[in-house]
Amino acid sequence: MKKLLLPTSIVGSLPKPAWLAPPEKLWSPWKLEGDQLLEGKQDALRISLQEQQLADLDIICDGEQTRQHFVTTFIEHLSGVDFENRKTVKIRNRYDASVPVVVGEVARQKAVFVEDAKFLRKQTNKPIKWALPGPLTMVDTLYDDHYKSREKLAWEFAKALNEEARELQDAGVDIIQFDEPAFNVFFDEVNDWGMAALERAIEGLHCQTAVHICYGYGIQANTDWKKTLGSEWRQYEEIFPKIQKSKIDVVSLECHNSNVPLNLMELVRGKKVMVGAIDVATNTIETPEEVADTLRKALEFVDAENLYPSTNCGMAPLSRDVARGKLSALSAGAEIIRKELGI
Ligand SMILES: [Zn+2]
Repeated sequence: MKKLLLPTSIVGSLPKPAWLAPPEKLWSPWKLEGDQLLEGKQDALRISLQEQQLADLDIICDGEQTRQHFVTTFIEHLSGVDFENRKTVKIRNRYDASVPVVVGEVARQKAVFVEDAKFLRKQTNKPIKWALPGPLTMVDTLYDDHYKSREKLAWEFAKALNEEARELQDAGVDIIQFDEPAFNVFFDEVNDWGMAALERAIEGLHCQTAVHICYGYGIQANTDWKKTLGSEWRQYEEIFPKIQKSKIDVVSLECHNSNVPLNLMELVRGKKVMVGAIDVATNTIETPEEVADTLRKALEFVDAENLYPSTNCGMAPLSRDVARGKLSALSAGAEIIRKELGI
């Protein structure tokens, strides 16, 4: 990957066009079917790419246009999972969701996103980043009727994720990011086996690897949870020591409008940090100055060459106008800091 300073990127998702899936909600059903759906997803991917390029982002994502949900779409492609007879579980101890059920050995029989990644690769010369769910978050987003052990299941998922990640890398993906919002909730599991499972998922990769941990999308259940966390959100403190020792290259951190003490970044000194300078839980579009202000504060704890300006989390539930505005603000804010640093 070419050396860029303060390379900007989004965490992953962007809103989908209304003709593809009803906007502003999670698990939004597809409006098209068959070949039309395939073509529709690719068209949406093109639009998402164009919006990121117009906003001048440096690292391009797929905007998650080809998946219904960041976790369940990956699971849907595995064998051993029943999607018909769903069960309701509480995700991250926070909100109910209707999820698939593990009924047998899980295995990746076919590639999940590799064709999509090749398609994106052909459309841009910029570095591309691809997000996959992390093993712990996957385990927490379904009902297990087979392994009866979160650890065992995570290990199987890690194996499947590693197969997918290697093929994504071969398809030309520069950064593979694992989304692990559950890391902020189940600290004991992270430290016992969650981090080890994630390391299994990145085994043998030579592209950059990232882990995205966050306080979730801007949905009500998450907003309510955040209110219970007090004036200092120190969750990252429980898991950063383990991440610091791992081979993961990039760590994301929710910074703007959050109560995360920024000095926690000291715990991952030397790693690259995706600094969330865009709040995804509000429709208010940040000004470039606000973005710059967050980045400036982060620079006290992360070296400039390791700072990756980003969003706090995915923007799937936002309106397209708001998301576009936030992309531009991110880019303009990073530019202010580049000028200040004379780079
Ligand atoms: Zn997130």
